[in-house]
Order: sequence, then C-alpha cells, then structure tokens
Amino acid sequence: MLQSKLFPKTKKEAPREAESVNHKYLVRGGFIDQLMAGGWTLLPLGWRVIQKINNIIREEMNAIGGQELLMPLRHPKSIWSETGRWDKAKDVMYQFKDQAGREYALSFTHEEIVMDLLRKNVVSHADLPVYLYHFSTKFRNELRTKSGILRGREFMMKDLYSAHSTEKDLMDYYERAKEAYSKIFQRLGFDFRVIEASGGVFTDKYTHEFQVISEGGEDTIYYCDSCGWGQNKEIFKGKKGDKCQKCKKGKIVESKSIEVGNIFPLGTWYAERMRVYYTDKEGKKKPIWFGSYGIGSTRVMGAWVEVSHDEKGIIWNKTIAPFEAHLLQIQNPKSKIQNLAREVYEKLGNAGIEVLWDDREVSAGEKFADADLIGIPVRLVISENTGAKIEWKERIKDNTELLSLGQIVNKLS
Ligand code: ATP
Ligand code: MG
Repeated sequence: MLQSKLFPKTKKEAPREAESVNHKYLVRGGFIDQLMAGGWTLLPLGWRVIQKINNIIREEMNAIGGQELLMPLRHPKSIWSETGRWDKAKDVMYQFKDQAGREYALSFTHEEIVMDLLRKNVVSHADLPVYLYHFSTKFRNELRTKSGILRGREFMMKDLYSAHSTEKDLMDYYERAKEAYSKIFQRLGFDFRVIEASGGVFTDKYTHEFQVISEGGEDTIYYCDSCGWGQNKEIFKGKKGDKCQKCKKGKIVESKSIEVGNIFPLGTWYAERMRVYYTDKEGKKKPIWFGSYGIGSTRVMGAWVEVSHDEKGIIWNKTIAPFEAHLLQIQNPKSKIQNLAREVYEKLGNAGIEVLWDDREVSAGEKFADADLIGIPVRLVISENTGAKIEWKERIKDNTELLSLGQIVNKLS
C-alpha cells in the first residue's frame, strides 16, 4: 500500500475530548473516526487490524467445531418478550417503532435469536450438539463512553452459542471454549487472566471473564500471583495480600483490567422460557442446555493500544499490525532512491509481505514521526546513507542495523 494514497492522513493533535490513550492514538494514527459518542468508523488501517484479530478468533472457533453464520441486527419485540428481556434489558437495548407502529430492538446480543433457530431446526438428541457463531455489530445504550473504542454504543463482537442435550456435554464444551479463548488471547499477545465472575440470574455456576491487565482498565480484579486463579471485584470476598485460597501458595494481587471476553454456561433458562426442546433416546421431551461466548474485537484493538504504546505512538506486534513492515525513503529530488525503494517494495510484496510504503515527498522528520505513531513493528529506511543496503529498525527497539534485501525477506518471512 502506498502511503500517499492511504486515507486519511495522520493528525498532529488528538481530539480535545479524548481522555484515553487508545482514543488519542487510534484517531491520530488514522485507525478510527468518531461519528458521535460511542459510534466509530473503522478506517482502512483500523479495519486491517480488526480483520487480523477476527481471523485469529475465527481459526480458534472453527477448531472447536464452530460454524460461522450471520444473524440479523433488527429483532421483533415478540422474541425478546418470550424471555422477559424486552423489559429487563430496557436500559441497554435500543428499542424503536417503525412507521406502522411495530416495535423492534437493535441487537445487543443474540441468545433469543439462536434459540429461535434451534427450536425450528432441532428435533432429537441426534441433532445436538450445535455450535454457531458470528461476527456482527452489537448496539448497547452505554451510560458512559469516555474510554474511546473500549466502550462503544455500537461495537463489533464475535459471539458463539452452543446447544447440548446434557449438562455434562455443555460443561465439557464450556471448558473447551475456555481453552480456545485462552489460546486466542495468547496468540494476540496479551498479559491476561481468566477470572471468575457471577453467573447472574441464568446459572448458579460462575461465568468467566478474560481480563487484560491494564492501568487504563475500568474493571478491578483480584488474582493469585502464583497459580493465576482470580475473581472480579463484584464477587471476591478477600483482600489483596491474602494467601490464595486455590493453590494455598501464592499471594492475591489487585489490578485494574479490561474485560475483553466473557463466557457463560447458561443452562436451560432460555430453553424453558422459549420452549426449545429435543426428544431424548427414551422419547422424552427435554429442554436444551445452552452456553454463550463473546469477544469484543473492537475492544481488543483498543486494549492492545492501552497496553502497548510509548510517548511517540502505538506499538503493534506482528500478529495484529496493519502491515508487517513500513518502508520509508529519504531522498533528495535527484537521487535514485525512488527506484531502489520501488524495487524493495515490489520484492517484499512478491514475497507475500504486507508493506506500507511511505512514498510521499515530505520531510524525513515527518516520516519518522508518522512511522512511530502508526506503530508498524518493522521500519525499513532507504536513504543516501544506506548505500545498497536497507536500514532495519524494530518499533520496540532503539538500535538499527544495515541489511541486504535478501536478509530482510528472510527475517520477515
Ligand atoms: P462491560 O462490563 O465492560 O460493560 P459486558 O460484561 O456488559 O461488558 P458482555 O455482555 O460480557 O459485556 O460482552 C462480551 C464482550 O463484548 C465483552 O467481554 C467485551 O469484549 C465486549 N463489549 C461489551 N460491551 C462493549 C462495549 N460497549 N464496547 C465494546 N466492546 C464491548
Ligand atoms: Mg461481560
């Protein structure tokens, strides 16, 4: 991609109302744009990051049998009334009428919609289990939206739903989903904890939150510094410094954190209310066991910026960076640098490496500042001083080295 063509250009100043790091840097770097409070455009750079995050999530969902589909975002009132959530979730749900007076909601989650699919399509135990997921926009009327893209009033979520004939089958799958979630956040490169949280009205079991350790987080968690077991502030009974009640060895520490994922063993609560039954081997009608599993991919992008930045800008890792390398040419108008840079750009492209090429005629200082702000993990500089070689610098390091094109292709492949 040529940076001269990239939309939009970077900004020198953060928006005046921006309080959080992710808001400032993602806007300045040209990853996101705010339409109104809690409503964001994912600009080309931001969309590239989100697609990388989503692809990792997708791979791990497919690995535990998930089948991807896409469900509607506009739902009739009647389906939400079946579980009573039309009234119970009124505060968070956007509800509206059309011109004929019919009532609808914008999706804030999809349990009821999946249940409706199951009751239309599942007859017997032989039709179970079912694992369905999608990536889609969720709408929630959040009270506050000061944390940038961490808390939107519309945001992107991957939600997986699982349906089972027995409680044991649900809980076995719940453990597999928990492992898949851990794998996702490991692959993304986060320092995170799997934290017990309340099951709410649906289940007497715990739910589990995936919490990224971050100063900029809105949540507070308590966890063991040895075995990692932990609980969120809402249910934790002890205090920091206590001995861990799980492993009896470690010490409990308190931390600010960002919830990036949450999984719920929902039991038969939904099936009973929506009359979603299957017939078992003896021909008896039984309610379906149900679980749901969510990750907010736009929040994941914001969380990364909160935990990985410096005073100059964002520091992406290779896994979710919008490009793998940022090629900069520093030239005077008469030099041959332009041709050399084009050759490097094309060769890297042919080797399957994603490169952003800063081909603009702006000062070296401006190019370096933009490279640090955008935060692509590897910066490659071609100038009068680099001769036939290319200067390699990693965003997380200070030192540079001169390498041949062949060496660079090897290092990036
Ligand atoms: P929170 O407590 O932060 O409001 P939640 O517990 O209500 O979130 P869940 O219903 O558990 O959210 O949603 C699953 C995931 O969706 C969350 O773990 C988070 O990654 C993401 N998410 C939830 N609300 C938002 C939001 N307003 N903006 C962006 N992502 C969100
Ligand atoms: Mg949650």
